Amino acid sequence: MAFRKTIKMITPDSAKLTLKGRKNMSKQVIFHEGYYLEYTSDPAAKTGRMEAIMDELTDFSVITPSPATIEDVLLVHSEEHLVRVQNDYDQVYKCALLAVGGALLAADYAYNQQPIFAAIRPPGHHASPDGYWGFCYFNNVAIAVRYYCIQKQLRNALIVDFDLHFGDGSNNTFRNDPLVTYYAAEGTTPNDFIANLIDFLAQMSEVDFLAVSAGFDRHEADWGGLLSTNDYRSIGSILKTYSEDHGKNRRFACLEGGYNHSVLGKNVRAFIDGFY
Ligand SMILES: [Zn+2]
Repeated sequence: MAFRKTIKMITPDSAKLTLKGRKNMSKQVIFHEGYYLEYTSDPAAKTGRMEAIMDELTDFSVITPSPATIEDVLLVHSEEHLVRVQNDYDQVYKCALLAVGGALLAADYAYNQQPIFAAIRPPGHHASPDGYWGFCYFNNVAIAVRYYCIQKQLRNALIVDFDLHFGDGSNNTFRNDPLVTYYAAEGTTPNDFIANLIDFLAQMSEVDFLAVSAGFDRHEADWGGLLSTNDYRSIGSILKTYSEDHGKNRRFACLEGGYNHSVLGKNVRAFIDGFY
């Protein structure tokens, strides 16, 4: 496989937590110890949040991304937007570039038909071409999708977002782009939510690429109070089936929301169980 960025394993010496023995494991996750940094004071940046995920995924090997370049960010965002983030927040800016790098690396794996989850932060789906809010700065998924649409001349791509919140940034980015469809799943009950996702995918035609904005804040013990851990397994599995049958088996998912540290790890694992 020809990957865009250099891939290296985290060395145990440089890891904050014990990531020893994580080589040669069959399942992989994209992560960088830089995501542990509490880069600002919002719920997405809290200490313990990424630990909740990585402490759960102890049987996964870790693939570490490099920071994205300014050119990558400018695929979606204006120069003014970039400069604003750069000038206002030094730590945030560095972490946000690393998060975009994680999404780009995930898209590399997906393009090569290896499904992958990127445990990254800050999240991105509220970041528009020229504006940001909701703990987001650069739109990780949107940048990765646009990069691949251009670089690989993809015919089309689909973004499925199952976060509690509507990804206005992703929607704004692709509103006038005929290549990319953005779909935010909704529902008032778990069954409803899953049925809506299935119905949407059933009427969707073939795509070259599937990207997933994976937010876990709709869990029954998180802000949304709706989905069970097992529902995330079902969602992962539904997306996998769609991708295999109608999406060239190219799929990746990036972390968006999810704020209850005591359930976030098991929800991520359940989703991955279905998705890989
Ligand atoms: Zn959210």
